[in-house]
Amino acid sequence: MAQGTIGVTSDNIFPVIKKFLYSDHEIFLREMISNAVDATQKLKTLASVGEMKGELGDLKVRVIIDKKKKTLTIQDHGIGMTAEEVDKYINQIAFSGAEEFVNKYKNRTEAIIGHFGLGFYSSFMVSDKVEIFSLSYKDDARAVHWSCSGETTYEMEDTIKAERGTDIVLHINDEFSQYLEDATIEGLLKKYCKFLPVEIVFGKKKEWKDGKQVETDEDNVINNTTPAWTRKPAELKDEDYKAFYRELYPMQMDEPLFWIHLNVDYPFHLTGILYFPRIKRNIDVRRNKIQLYCNQVFVTDEVENIVPEYLTLLHGVIDSPDIPLNVSRSYLQSDNNVKKIASHITKKVADKLSELYKNDKEDFEKKWDDIRLFIQYGMLTDEKFYERAISFCLVKNTDLKYFNIEEYKEKVKGEQTDKDGNLILLYTQDPNANYTHIERAKQKGYDVLLMDGELDVHAMSQLEQKNEKMRFVRIDSDILENLIRKQDAQKDNYTEEQKEGMRKAFEKILPTDNKLNYYISFEAADSDSLPIFLTQNEFMRRMKEMSQHQQGMNFYGEMPDQYNLVINTSHPLIKDLFGKMQSEEVEEVVEKKDDKKEGEEPVKETVKKTVWNLTGEDERLNQLTDIALLASGQLKGEALAKFVNRTVSLLQ
Ligand code: ADP
Repeated sequence: MAQGTIGVTSDNIFPVIKKFLYSDHEIFLREMISNAVDATQKLKTLASVGEMKGELGDLKVRVIIDKKKKTLTIQDHGIGMTAEEVDKYINQIAFSGAEEFVNKYKNRTEAIIGHFGLGFYSSFMVSDKVEIFSLSYKDDARAVHWSCSGETTYEMEDTIKAERGTDIVLHINDEFSQYLEDATIEGLLKKYCKFLPVEIVFGKKKEWKDGKQVETDEDNVINNTTPAWTRKPAELKDEDYKAFYRELYPMQMDEPLFWIHLNVDYPFHLTGILYFPRIKRNIDVRRNKIQLYCNQVFVTDEVENIVPEYLTLLHGVIDSPDIPLNVSRSYLQSDNNVKKIASHITKKVADKLSELYKNDKEDFEKKWDDIRLFIQYGMLTDEKFYERAISFCLVKNTDLKYFNIEEYKEKVKGEQTDKDGNLILLYTQDPNANYTHIERAKQKGYDVLLMDGELDVHAMSQLEQKNEKMRFVRIDSDILENLIRKQDAQKDNYTEEQKEGMRKAFEKILPTDNKLNYYISFEAADSDSLPIFLTQNEFMRRMKEMSQHQQGMNFYGEMPDQYNLVINTSHPLIKDLFGKMQSEEVEEVVEKKDDKKEGEEPVKETVKKTVWNLTGEDERLNQLTDIALLASGQLKGEALAKFVNRTVSLLQ
């Protein structure tokens, strides 16, 4: 038996590693299995170039639990190792690699492990002792047994082993007894090994017999060795892509809308399939994350630093050996390969969408409501994506017809350009609430967009920034004559005093609610529009809506909703009310402004004023106000009941 010291210089790095890796210790299994798969793949390569002769035999990798001995064994029939190779790769290289790793990262607080970098050494995180039994594929090779109990010395001796390949035997530490449970190991294998290129076997398949689960003779193979992304797109049918989607997300009920098969060789290697899910709301999709693989080994489903954030709304798989995995997450963002990968994926996604739009507009329109959140999010957060997406970013009108922005501008510019050359795009977020406004707009030959998407408010602001002289205004944000001003405002002949009197008369009967503020204003609108209606300032309302998504905008969010109650001075009913007003002369004591000197008591004087009053018309004023509220969907509860009763009694 030979004994020796492992090629490390620090006294004992095991305690450091154990503590350091605490949160991520499960990755030891992935590392052991990756080595077993590598050894198997190497053997296949050697056989294919004729360097290894003889039978390949059964190449499955097996994971075996022995509860009595408290061991977990990873067994492969790959190339194996000779005593010299164990000495070189395990005693020297593996350990020095691990040591370097620990020295480099022991002061970092970020959780960087969990990604590759530790290899064989990670087995000591969960084991008191690790043994290797190996027989190399080489002619005349002698089997070797190596063992190490978590100190810096090892033992090595010849042994007897019939089959080519390597058994790694982990004597699991009592603290980690969960790794001797079938369920834990099967769970980990499904997480990390689901798509490895060599079959991984864990026990036998089970089946139900007479109400009990019994073992069959068939190996329980954990993985699909040729997942869809590793195959050629030409070989795959739609059904295959959908089946793979279900394999990835067994809990997902909806089918994906469409998908992109990524395949890049230069300047980096990347394969994968990205699926477009139906995106109803942001939260829905976060459960099914994009999974990142490295040569078919699962690495993580936290891809935030690798692809732009909006792409994380997609589902699927990215596999790249070129993404550096043993570095911190913040470093990833600045890595050049990662940047190239991100911009390549962005381009592919945009190209695919553009192709779908060009090839079948009708189908694209059908899918629009399900993908718009994704596209708008991309446009808002990624300038490059905006430039690509602007041609297939759609808007729909209240007749549910779809247009891209340029088409829509072209459609409405004749009717909806105001006297100053601004193109005004009218929209509603709720066609039911805005029904009256929409009808009037249509009568005038205007078109109204339906902007009911979660990100529409932000998307509109972005389009306004990009398109000079184009503005979106919600159909109820002002009277139509003001929204699209074709000529200077009409004037009425009432004095400020008269209007003040009318304002007071209405204020008396307006509903009081501290979340709503009403301002009364006067407009000489068309005589055939309503006598009185409610509008809401576009800017204030939009700020409020945007504040729901953005931090630091609470100021707007907490303000009460403000409405304008616009009184149409051209309407015969209003003219009639003005006619019923009575004036009286009153005297008022006011401060004299002109003569006021610093420090002196203000001089007061009495002035005569004309005050206008409207009395005996409360019922009509109530009815008018309620009609305005009703037309905007704001008359509810008790107020609505009162309105109904009042209307009935008016009809009697
Ligand atoms: P890495 O796999 O990153 O090279 P490891 O520490 O996991 O680092 O392994 C070190 C080396 O030990 C491997 O490169 C390989 O040569 C050898 N090795 C480990 N496990 C096996 C195995 N099951 N069969 C053959 N060789 C192995």
